[in-house]
Amino acid sequence: MELESLRTILGVKGIVTDPSLHSAYTVDWTRRYSGVTPAVLLPETTEQVSRVVTWCYENSVALVPQGGNTGMVGGATPVNGELVLSLKRMTEIEEVDDSTGQIVAQAGATLGDIQQAASLLGWKYGVDLSARDSASIGGTIATNAGGSQVLRHGNTREQILGLEAVSGTGDVIGDLRGLSKDNTGYHLPGLLCGSEGTLAVVTRSRLRLVRPPEEELSILLGFKSLNEALGIVEEIRKSLEDVQACEVFFQNGLNLVCEKFGIPPPWDTQLVAYLLIDAGGQLGLEERISKGPLSNSLNASNFVAYGNDSQSRKRLWQYRDLHTEAISAAGIPHKLDVSLPHGKLNEFCNGVREVISEIDNETQLFLFGHAGDGNIHVNILGPDPDNLAVDIAVLKYVASLGGSISAEHGVGRAKAHHLYLNRTATELDIFRKIKAVFDPAGILNPGAIFPR
Ligand SMILES: Cc1cc2nc3c(=O)[nH]c(=O)nc-3n(C[C@H](O)[C@H](O)[C@H](O)COP(=O)(O)OP(=O)(O)OC[C@H]3O[C@@H](n4cnc5c(N)ncnc54)[C@H](O)[C@@H]3O)c2cc1C
Repeated sequence: MELESLRTILGVKGIVTDPSLHSAYTVDWTRRYSGVTPAVLLPETTEQVSRVVTWCYENSVALVPQGGNTGMVGGATPVNGELVLSLKRMTEIEEVDDSTGQIVAQAGATLGDIQQAASLLGWKYGVDLSARDSASIGGTIATNAGGSQVLRHGNTREQILGLEAVSGTGDVIGDLRGLSKDNTGYHLPGLLCGSEGTLAVVTRSRLRLVRPPEEELSILLGFKSLNEALGIVEEIRKSLEDVQACEVFFQNGLNLVCEKFGIPPPWDTQLVAYLLIDAGGQLGLEERISKGPLSNSLNASNFVAYGNDSQSRKRLWQYRDLHTEAISAAGIPHKLDVSLPHGKLNEFCNGVREVISEIDNETQLFLFGHAGDGNIHVNILGPDPDNLAVDIAVLKYVASLGGSISAEHGVGRAKAHHLYLNRTATELDIFRKIKAVFDPAGILNPGAIFPR
């Protein structure tokens, strides 16, 4: 491939052709997907992104946009030898507007950078996930990332006030005006959010900030049955305004986290399920919660731990946050991120074990996730990374219960062949036509969302 033109656009520091420096860009976080690339491209400006994409369009060269490479579905991996377009050098926080509570940043800034810049001016960004220090804001937009606070603030799509992006022809589209009301035709940010680098490269965004709560409190609850735990989730959904997050995990995941990271368990008793509830609001939170609908459960349980300062909250959150890393340290998991309709979580968590063991009864299954959103991360250790039998069985089971085969991680390459489980042929046809308008040469992330 003739790369001199790209070197001219990007400068010497903006293009890495030495394969020994590529592994951070060509192997995904899960280690299940890997590829090779002729070059990693590292633009610093929107103009450079536009010139690079224009060159790729004119020369029919495919590229894979990449942010922090923390995605879980192989969406940022150059599995067919594509160029990697990394936004890693576009990290500028351009503006934090204190009067409107809005932030403008380049796409390569991490979620953590955004959170920190917001908090320096007394604001908070409403999306949080444990890969915050690596995941880029562009990547979270491209995947419409959820995370732990969707219950309170919605997912990434709800935070976007404006977007700038480069389409598959190299054209710069979108705007960053941040108008609260703007019904001038189709909503481009809404469409590009969640498009996983298949329609355009996100280069900058304007995001909504929220006021941080005066006080925050985390509560860990242990249960002898999942049913009991889900009863509390119901209660929370109905009546607790202060709740920001409601996470679930199980005893085997907790044991793995404690073993891998040398952390003492919260209690010596082996239980079944755990809920981590995070609340934030005006002062007097603990008193409000202790008098609210959860009071009976909190008073009656022997398995309740409170975190009311940042250290004790962090201690409780590590049991949940470290699941992904602990499982990854134990092997290369099959990762399925699914959501279930209201009332089906219990049935799914019990049924999925049977579905998997009918295919392979030597697997290890770890379930955890965002219980408040009906979102469960299914992690299966054991089967060969290329053996898709359990994946397909689980996804079909999810679809049979009316759930989504991709709750928040996206479709990427992992689920591209299974999208028909949730989308009709007509819908897939419309998707393809939309893709062709934004990316007529099919150079943007081929193989993601749509199978090659
Ligand atoms: C420990 C851990 C915890 C996680 N927890 C959560 C969670 O709670 N909720 C959740 O939703 N996800 C979670 N994730 C998954 C991941 O962090 C998110 O999907 C995140 O949004 C990916 O951001 P990234 O910058 O790493 O994107 P990448 O992995 O680099 O890319 C992901 C996708 O976005 C595209 N893309 C990236 N940047 C751009 C851009 N600028 N323009 C266009 N397309 C682009 C890529 O082509 C790819 O398709 C977790 C991951 C880890 C490792």
